[in-house]
Amino acid sequence: MRTIKCPVCRKEVPLDSPEMPFCSERCRLIDLGRWANEEYRIPAEPVHPPAPEPEDADEE
Ligand SMILES: [Zn+2]
Repeated sequence: MRTIKCPVCRKEVPLDSPEMPFCSERCRLIDLGRWANEEYRIPAEPVHPPAPEPEDADEE
């Protein structure tokens, strides 16, 4: 039987597995979570330029 490797844990998965290409539903969810994280990570990384510090030269 031909197998492929689970992209998550590298276990061999038979090509007729219902969870193809993952070895189990668990790995499928892990992979899904990874992608979700990646997608959220990019837009959720707000570019906060350091606020210019107002030079409060209030020292007389
Ligand atoms: Zn796996």
